[in-house]
Amino acid sequence: MYRSKIAASLFALVFVALASVSIAEDKISALIVEGQNNHGVWPKTTEMMTAFLEETDRFTVDVATTKPKGTDADFKPKFSNYDVVISNYNGAAWPAETQQAFVQFVKEGGGFVVIHAANNAFGKWSEYNQIIGLGGWGGRNESSGPYVYLDGKGNTVRDPSPGRGGHHGSQHPFQIIVRDDSHPITKGMPTAWMHSKDELYDQLRGPSQNMHILATAHASTDKGGTGRHEPMLMTVDYGKGRVFHTPMGHAEYSQDCVGFITCLQRGTEWAATGKVTLPIPKDFPSADAVSRRTK
Ligand code: ZN
Repeated sequence: MYRSKIAASLFALVFVALASVSIAEDKISALIVEGQNNHGVWPKTTEMMTAFLEETDRFTVDVATTKPKGTDADFKPKFSNYDVVISNYNGAAWPAETQQAFVQFVKEGGGFVVIHAANNAFGKWSEYNQIIGLGGWGGRNESSGPYVYLDGKGNTVRDPSPGRGGHHGSQHPFQIIVRDDSHPITKGMPTAWMHSKDELYDQLRGPSQNMHILATAHASTDKGGTGRHEPMLMTVDYGKGRVFHTPMGHAEYSQDCVGFITCLQRGTEWAATGKVTLPIPKDFPSADAVSRRTK
C-alpha cells in the first residue's frame, strides 16, 4: 500500500515535470541583440520589446548586450539556441566569427526581426544587407541597391538613381496602409491605421531581393518627406530563414503604439514559425486615431 502510494506520487511528479517541459517547448525562444545605438533610448526600448513579447505568453526572451563601444571581441551569442533574433543594435561591426554564425543561423532557417535603426547598422556588410532587404545611413548609396517605394498607383518602384540611403522628415503620427492583407502578419488588420509619433524613414535602399512589402506610409513633403509611399512592414526570405523588418520604433512614444506592438508580436511569431496565432487586439488603432499603451 505504502509502496504503491510512493509509486503514484512519483508518477504524478514525472507527469508534472513532463507537462512543464512540453509547455516550455511550446514557447518561441527569442533573443534581442543590443548594446550600441545612436538612439539614447535603446535600453528602454529593449525592455519595452521584451515586455511586449513576454506578455503574449508565446515567447521567452533573452537579451545579448555588446560592450558600449567598438567591436566587442567577446560578443558571441549562441544564435542557434534561439528560434528568432531581434535586433535593436546599431553600432560597431561584430567579430567575424559572430557575423558568420549569424548568417549561418538565418540561412539555416532562423528568424530575424529588424527594428528601426537596426537597418542603419553594418552598411558595408553585404550578407546583412541581403538579410534586411533595405537600409539607411551607414554609408549606403547607389552601390547598396535601388531605392524601393510604391508609386501613387501602388506599383513598386525600384529606383537606381544615385544618392544617399536613409532620411526622415520631422516626427509626426502617420497612417499605415496595408498593401497585402493576405499575409499572416497583416491578416485581419484594418487597411489603414494611425501609427503614433515616429520618424518616417524614407529613401531606404538595398539589395531588396526576395523582399515583400506588406504596408507603407506616405512620406508627406509637408513634413520634409519624399512624397512617396515608403515601406513600413516588409518580409525577406534569406536561405531558409524568414525576416520581418519595420523601420518604425524610434522612441518610447513610437513603440507604445498598439499598432507597433501588434506588428512586433505577430512579425516575431511569423519570423520564428511561419505562422501567426496572436490576435489583432481590440484597442488596435483606427484609420484616424492613434492608440497607445502608456503606463
Ligand atoms: Zn530614430
